[in-house]
Amino acid sequence: MIRLLTLLLLVFSGGAHALESVTLQLKWRHQFQFAGYYAALDKGFYRDAGLQVTLLEATAATNVVEEVVSGRAQYGVGTSELVLAQRKAPVVALAVIFQHSPLILLAREDTIGNLHELAGQKVMIEAHAEELFAYLRQEGVAPESLQLLPHRQGIEDLISGKIAAMSAYSTTEPYLLRRARIRTMEFSPRAVGIDFYGDNLFTSAQELRLYPERAKAFRAATLRGWEYAMKHPEEIIALILARYNSQGLDRNMLAFEANRTAQLMQADLVEMGYMNPGRWQHIADVYADLGLMPRSKLPEGFLYSNVERHLPAWLTPTAAMAGLVILLLSLLVYRNVHLSRRLKREFAVSEEANRQLAQKLTEVQELQSRLKEQAIRDGLTGLFNRRYLDETLPRELARAKRQGYPLAVIMLDVDHFKKINDTYGHPGGDELLKSLGAVFRDGAREGDISCRYGGEEFVIVLPHMGIDAALMRAEKWRKEVEATQVKHDDFSMRFTISAGVSGYPDHANDHEGLIQGADRALYAAKGAGRNCVACFVPDANSRPA
Ligand code: GH3
Ligand code: MG
Ligand code: MG
Repeated sequence: MIRLLTLLLLVFSGGAHALESVTLQLKWRHQFQFAGYYAALDKGFYRDAGLQVTLLEATAATNVVEEVVSGRAQYGVGTSELVLAQRKAPVVALAVIFQHSPLILLAREDTIGNLHELAGQKVMIEAHAEELFAYLRQEGVAPESLQLLPHRQGIEDLISGKIAAMSAYSTTEPYLLRRARIRTMEFSPRAVGIDFYGDNLFTSAQELRLYPERAKAFRAATLRGWEYAMKHPEEIIALILARYNSQGLDRNMLAFEANRTAQLMQADLVEMGYMNPGRWQHIADVYADLGLMPRSKLPEGFLYSNVERHLPAWLTPTAAMAGLVILLLSLLVYRNVHLSRRLKREFAVSEEANRQLAQKLTEVQELQSRLKEQAIRDGLTGLFNRRYLDETLPRELARAKRQGYPLAVIMLDVDHFKKINDTYGHPGGDELLKSLGAVFRDGAREGDISCRYGGEEFVIVLPHMGIDAALMRAEKWRKEVEATQVKHDDFSMRFTISAGVSGYPDHANDHEGLIQGADRALYAAKGAGRNCVACFVPDANSRPA
């Protein structure tokens, strides 16, 4: 029925005669990122909609929002930054093309094992990458601690080792590094639940006000193009190679991009173009957290679906015509009441189903990132768990060996914890463990790894720290704990800890040896009367010849 309506509308409004010219400003140079627009052109979807569309490439200097607001282009491909732009420029988001942002931090696997290791390192981050800064902050890596360099387009600096990491698109740069045989780590803000939209289609409020039908037709034809492109990626790759290959890309690279793009679009799960007002608000909130805009509700007019709903239908002649058509159709429908009712019901159900699916998807994604976090964190203390330690210590040690710096391990255990549990109950013991977690977390340097190793045992890994410094650090914590009072109910609990220290290269060469060394030192500290720190002493038998 909707198709019939569109057809009738076209006939009535004379849209079938001359094609209207509009320009779409892309946000970069031709590549698979814009596959849907090429498809809509090549397959005649724009022409069917009465439009003659010109695609404009962008350079690093192009400001897409300005191109659209000034009217030099009627439509544009934007990022989530549209949320910031709408505060100053009258723009309207028409449709989301990439359900997730491709922006990642790309690091060399041989230098960077986790985000914390970026501290002090040279990192290249492009402009408009606020989601990456939000991500770093949330992971506890202060952006000020990085040596930030301006982004030189290209991956040469990462390959030569001049920089440790760079901002990149998950859809392209990883392929180039793979081709250069460099193993990389990809860090995505989605890991901590910062989930921005990627490319979206937008227009100016003016275009929408003056030409609502054109905007609608352009949007629909574009989405049709994207649907086609994602069903026939090979065909569109061939089209790009033949007609849009201004960057001289090769087929393999485009295939990689198509593959990664499909992951970001989730076209099989989410209706093409779907926008979730809650997701847009989430993006606005992240910007607000970064101090880039005040925390406020996004204006209704920013989202096309809202605009469409709030537009008084009798304002435009075309809409009046549509009213006439609807009247005619109602007469028809009147004769087929049963059929139409059924159709309507089915329509309503399948739309509703789409919305529910998209909502579920958002929930699943949130759950995934929470699960990921839970998998490496201890719920009570907020420190890392033993699993994480088992994964990271070998990697940390390998790096220490490679780069030739020392690494210490401190193992700590609460003295007479059973008695504390007996006296104050399990909840009291838990309270104490929580406060201990805070001591180790707050007293750690960036790059230290503080873990809850077992019940009331903790292990802290300290890269770049020799034995003497580690003994002093353990002693500092011991004193701090001794002086601490933990409130629980009406009681004020006091307690002590013992600690054992071992280190690479003095005591062991592998991670098991380091943990065993610290454990044996801890045992010695307990034997020496508790509330003290001991250093591992290799016995004569195990000492290397
Ligand atoms: P020591 O000085 O020799 O270490 O004496 P201890 O009593 O601390 O002995 P041990 O380290 O063997 O005791 C561990 C106790 O910690 C046993 C267990 O009941 C308690 N525990 C383990 N996990 C938890 C927890 O999550 N919460 C609480 N409240 N108690 C725990
Ligand atoms: Mg104990
Ligand atoms: Mg114990």
